[in-house]
Amino acid sequence: MTEMLIDLQNVGRRYASGEGTVHALRGVDIQIARGEMVAIIGQSGSGKSTLMNILGCLDRPTSGSYRIAGREMGSLDPDELAALRREHFGFIFQRYHLLGELTATENTEVPAVYAGLGPATRRRKAEALLQRLGMGSRTDHRPGQLSGGQQQRVSIARALVNDPDVILADEPTGALDRASGEEVLRILDEISASGRTVIIVTHDAGVAQRARRIIELQDGRVISDKPNPRTPEPAADAAIEGAGSPAPSWWRSHLDRFREATRMALLAMNAHRLRAFLTMLGIIIGVASVVMVLALGRGSQARVLENINRLGTNTLEFFPGKDFGDTRSSKIRTLVLADAKVMAQQPYVDAISPTVSTTSTLRFGAIEVSAQISGVGEQYFRVKNTELAEGSYLDADTVRSYAQDAVIDDNARKALFPDSDVSPLGSVILIGKVPCRIVGVTKQQQAGFGSSSTPIVYLPYTTVQARFLGNQVLRSISVRVDEATPMAAAERAATALLTERHNTKDFFVLNTDDIRKTVESTTQVLTLLVAAIAVISLLVGGIGVMNIMLVSVSERVGEIGVRMAVGARRSDILMQFLIEAVLVCLLGGALGLALAVGFGTVFNALDVGFQLIYSPLAMVGAAVTSMAIGIGFGYMPARSASRLDPAIALARE
Ligand code: ADP
Ligand code: MG
Repeated sequence: MTEMLIDLQNVGRRYASGEGTVHALRGVDIQIARGEMVAIIGQSGSGKSTLMNILGCLDRPTSGSYRIAGREMGSLDPDELAALRREHFGFIFQRYHLLGELTATENTEVPAVYAGLGPATRRRKAEALLQRLGMGSRTDHRPGQLSGGQQQRVSIARALVNDPDVILADEPTGALDRASGEEVLRILDEISASGRTVIIVTHDAGVAQRARRIIELQDGRVISDKPNPRTPEPAADAAIEGAGSPAPSWWRSHLDRFREATRMALLAMNAHRLRAFLTMLGIIIGVASVVMVLALGRGSQARVLENINRLGTNTLEFFPGKDFGDTRSSKIRTLVLADAKVMAQQPYVDAISPTVSTTSTLRFGAIEVSAQISGVGEQYFRVKNTELAEGSYLDADTVRSYAQDAVIDDNARKALFPDSDVSPLGSVILIGKVPCRIVGVTKQQQAGFGSSSTPIVYLPYTTVQARFLGNQVLRSISVRVDEATPMAAAERAATALLTERHNTKDFFVLNTDDIRKTVESTTQVLTLLVAAIAVISLLVGGIGVMNIMLVSVSERVGEIGVRMAVGARRSDILMQFLIEAVLVCLLGGALGLALAVGFGTVFNALDVGFQLIYSPLAMVGAAVTSMAIGIGFGYMPARSASRLDPAIALARE
């Protein structure tokens, strides 16, 4: 006896249904040899589809044994079953089950993709099959543009593309008119004539008459299995053959399946553009806000640091008292000129200036404004890095001679000389009751940290002490530290020196280097804090992606079923949905970046006082993060898609 291709021994299939169990199949024994054409008939509910699913390895028996070409299938895992389907079976469904987004040729190619056939080979095969089935002029049509009979022919071509041993057709003519049904049956005859096994499930006696053997089911049992007394002559036409397929290389076939998964993901996104965009919106907003917040943080920090640098990056300032706001500091009168003179001798001092300060009224002609009067030494401008717009600095002579020479700042200049064409140099203004000649004007300070609109007038400290204050107490000593000396070392040395002179530490030091570091770290902390909040919006976006992917999976259960039936592995399905999630997120990330950069361009053009600074790291980070979100939040839906039971998925179509 020849070895049976299909060998069912005592196969049973139970379904758990509510309280009880349904016995869809009870002890079915069927053997089918290679090349047979068999019809399985029976009333609705007799178990035909259940049997069909088991024969096609879409489902497994709950009892008994099923061997295909001598191989027991009961113990195989889902991917091995998928391999069996790819190698041995071609499915034809009552409702065609074509993928709506694909053309006739592409639909035909799907099983070949999963079998790992190269693009050129499978295209050639698909087109030849469609040609052979009379669909040569419709290869680029989508299912929606084809009649039922034409769609069924495409689905037959798809069933044949991998050269299966067995064609399983479940009510292949059930949805067709007579003529189209007749045509499909004729094609099945031809397929049978080529030596393939054809199994047709039908409740139509007329259709069953085309087979050479008829098996009848009732209540899950075989009640008759006999040759068809009216067996037709085998079709004399040329049999439909498929070409043998060369085995593709491992990486080629993986790359191919990856490409197919990507293409399907793009098609799915394209089919639901608005939904894809709304899904992306969360990612767009999240990425844009993270990138913008970081750019804002960097920009404002750079701005503040620039201002601090203008104060001098390497200055120490000594004030009386314990700290800013020490109420007793005005009573501490120990910080004196002699301190400054001694400190000036120190090797780490590049420039030094005592300062005193008061407020007074400036008068020039009819104009009167109040101003801050800063009494400084001749090196003050070097210590503070102050630049002149015109005129000259105060020099050592003016300081020594208690000169009534003044350098005014830009605010004072604007207040006293509103007509910008007139140079203030040489003009004499009244400061309080003291007439002073203007010798210099400093450059405008950039708006920002530490700036104000109060006019400032610089006079020799000697003049301020003698004419305004009437005492020798200093407000501060400002020191520019030599480039070669580390700030911390200079601060230690100067502090030790002053402490020794005063016998106690009745002063405090302001170190611009420290201030800068503090500003740097506080703005960094603040930026990170706000960025963390923005990251939360990214997470919310990710949850949105997961939500929509779950919807997408449940909407496409039928498609998943078809893909599994034609041999897609679990990993193929997983990949398709994962790629879709990742693409949505990556696209969202790219749009978010574009939004952030667009916002930055507008912001920078508005000239708010500082510029946004984008860090390349943040941008790369945003792209990587959105991809990670796609993988992270897409995995669960993709996995649930890949775990679907093919038989159940198909039934949901
Ligand atoms: P047919 O295709 O001959 O109409 P089926 O094989 O679809 O019959 O069904 C056989 C029996 O099994 C029916 O009583 C049906 O209700 C039951 N059945 C089929 N599929 C399921 C399922 N997934 N869960 C529960 N019962 C099922
Ligand atoms: Mg059925």
